[in-house]
Amino acid sequence: MDNILVVGASLAGFRAVEELRHQGYDGRLTVIGAERHLPYDRPPLSKQVLSGKWDLERIALRPIGKEIADLDVDWRLGVAAAGLDLSARDVELADGTKVPFDALVIATGAAVRTLPGQPTLDGLYALRTLDDCLALRRDLERTPERVVVVGAGFIGAEVAATARERGLVVTVLEALSTPLQRALGDQMGNVCADIHRDHGVDLRLMVGVEGFDDDGHGRLIGVRLSDGTTIAADVAVVGVGVVPNTGWCAGSGLTIDNGVVCDETCLAADGVVAAGDIARWPNQRFGEVMRVEHWENAQDQGAHAARRLLGHADPYTPVPWFWSDQYDRKIQLAGRSSADDEVRVIDGSIDERRFVAIYGRAGRLVGVLGMNRPRVVMEYRQLIVNGTSWDDALAKSAS
Ligand SMILES: Cc1cc2nc3c(=O)[nH]c(=O)nc-3n(C[C@H](O)[C@H](O)[C@H](O)COP(=O)(O)OP(=O)(O)OC[C@H]3O[C@@H](n4cnc5c(N)ncnc54)[C@H](O)[C@@H]3O)c2cc1C
Repeated sequence: MDNILVVGASLAGFRAVEELRHQGYDGRLTVIGAERHLPYDRPPLSKQVLSGKWDLERIALRPIGKEIADLDVDWRLGVAAAGLDLSARDVELADGTKVPFDALVIATGAAVRTLPGQPTLDGLYALRTLDDCLALRRDLERTPERVVVVGAGFIGAEVAATARERGLVVTVLEALSTPLQRALGDQMGNVCADIHRDHGVDLRLMVGVEGFDDDGHGRLIGVRLSDGTTIAADVAVVGVGVVPNTGWCAGSGLTIDNGVVCDETCLAADGVVAAGDIARWPNQRFGEVMRVEHWENAQDQGAHAARRLLGHADPYTPVPWFWSDQYDRKIQLAGRSSADDEVRVIDGSIDERRFVAIYGRAGRLVGVLGMNRPRVVMEYRQLIVNGTSWDDALAKSAS
């Protein structure tokens, strides 16, 4: 094997490249990326870059202790992969070029989900790429009178927080009864709702979006809601989740089902691995087939998939972990919590917005949520790694 192709020039693809070189692979490495940028970090796009606190230098991904040139990669940026032929062992690009490979890393991540019939309008944004972020930031810098965020998930919540910190008037619309209801349940979802209310966000729950009004010249002026009302808006950001970028793999023979389906080692086919937001695999630790949309997973799975190509066949069994920065709070969530789990606050105080809650299901500790308590969250994450029972987790919290 002396010709490895990586499709997707972001975190998972970058970490795969870095690990291949780290493990001593010295053959040809080509990376195809639909964006024109070298790999960069996305989390600051809804935080420090959107707020203008960081310049763009800070989000470039760099290999640890090396320069990017040391990776000796043929970067093909600004061109998307359009098709995959597993028997010919090549990837066709949108410009018709075919790129051969001996082994392939699929790391094309995810793209934003749009609302049914969502129009293209000035002032109406999604946030996934650096270009999205810069366009939205330019509009926020013009101090719009009213910003509407559709979706109170982590990205929507961060955009709302950043816009409020800029002093803008912000309304957040959420279809469920609380933000993050499915992952956190009502009690903790309400805590997340209150943080925004504390900061003056007009949070409207259990309301859907029917459509967007424009001024007749392609500029957004309002958001129409399912309750029949319309909210005036100069800027709206739709943050209603993502869908995996699998289109270019269609018809290749790979199993595509809400992502590229892999085995427990991240192998999708002979000599083909997938990693990051696009990969769906059976995580043996939880007995669950999962696809994880978190930064740390993209980083770790990228490296794991690279080692898989080099013959290491260990199962990939992470305890997923995520953080979100909203106002002056750092929210962290580890494990696989869900709305039906038992929830206990085991540390700190909800009123002070500084606490840890744990989630239990079927006698096991399955999740931990923390607000400004990173050390305790990591302790309980380790208990999830250890397979700790719910009773033992509660006993530890009482000790
Ligand atoms: C605004 C924002 C804030 C976030 N904040 C956090 C956070 O606070 N904490 C956290 O844990 N996670 C956060 N995340 C999630 C985290 O950034 C993602 O999980 C991570 O970027 C996934 O990396 P990836 O490499 O798998 O995919 P992606 O980052 O989605 O990259 C995939 C790349 O592949 C390219 N591509 C797609 N299709 C093709 C094609 N056909 N051919 C070639 N290239 C293609 C895309 O253009 C993209 O560059 C955030 C994400 C966003 C967007």
